[in-house]
Amino acid sequence: MSKGTPSMGKCHKKVHIRCRRCGSLSFNFKRKVCVSCGFGKTRKMRSYKWMEKADY
Ligand SMILES: [Zn+2]
Repeated sequence: MSKGTPSMGKCHKKVHIRCRRCGSLSFNFKRKVCVSCGFGKTRKMRSYKWMEKADY
C-alpha cells in the first residue's frame, strides 16, 4: 500500500463553510471570504455583468 501520494489524507479539511450572508456553502474558512457573495471581501454583494442572464 505505498502507491500514490501518502499525504493525500490531509486534503480532506473543511475549507468552505456556510456563509451567514448568502447562506451558500461558499465561505472560505481560511481566507474568511465568501466566493459566492463576496462576504469578508466587500460590503456589497458580489455581482458581475455576466451573471445577469441568470437573474431573469
Ligand atoms: Zn456568501
